[in-house]
Amino acid sequence: MAALRRWIDAFAGDVAEHQEELTRLDSAIGDADHGSNLARGMKAVLAALDSERPATAGALLKRTGMTLVSTVGGASGPLYGTFFLRMGTAAGEVESLDTAALGAALRAGVGGIVARGKSELGDKTMYDALAPAVDAYDAAGDEVGAALRAASDAADRGRDATIPLQARKGRASYLGERSVGHQDPGATSAALLLGAAARTLG
Ligand code: ADP
Ligand code: MG
Ligand code: MG
Repeated sequence: MAALRRWIDAFAGDVAEHQEELTRLDSAIGDADHGSNLARGMKAVLAALDSERPATAGALLKRTGMTLVSTVGGASGPLYGTFFLRMGTAAGEVESLDTAALGAALRAGVGGIVARGKSELGDKTMYDALAPAVDAYDAAGDEVGAALRAASDAADRGRDATIPLQARKGRASYLGERSVGHQDPGATSAALLLGAAARTLG
């Protein structure tokens, strides 16, 4: 619970710090709002968690997801919102998550993104960072810190691997071949999410 709150705080801080970078990436292959979308959403999440003080892991994650869905327009709000909602449902009304439960909750969250966005590996989306991350987490073993570091490293590699891809989902797909050579903004924010997890939940 306290650890999950630190994760959300850290992600919000990283999004604020990288807001301009995220928007610059989105200006190349989208509509230049990914940084402002997420910064606005995470600011609203912090306000909601401060006023509500959820008592369980599930409640905290679900409040995070609902706030993102309701405050972030565009693709990333419903996608990250669904990630946290599904993660919260999988986590349940518990105080804290062990290594296996955290891995299962992360995987459920990523499953929510796929259900919502129909993304496949190589479509040049946030899924290209998240899918290898949950696989690396599961492969890493029982120690949560090592699992999260492996997940964060895999997310970074997945983010970098979006550069040569042609986008097949979202706004960037409208550009066709002109999307090649640019790093996907959503994969970049997803790598921030895993990096924040490795710093706070390990
Ligand atoms: P919008 O494109 O509506 O302006 P954002 O700029 O906030 O929304 O988010 C764009 C990001 O959303 C993309 O970089 C990509 O990673 C992600 N995205 C878009 N469509 C999908 C999808 N169908 N599945 C997964 N991720 C997607
Ligand atoms: Mg955008
Ligand atoms: Mg937009």
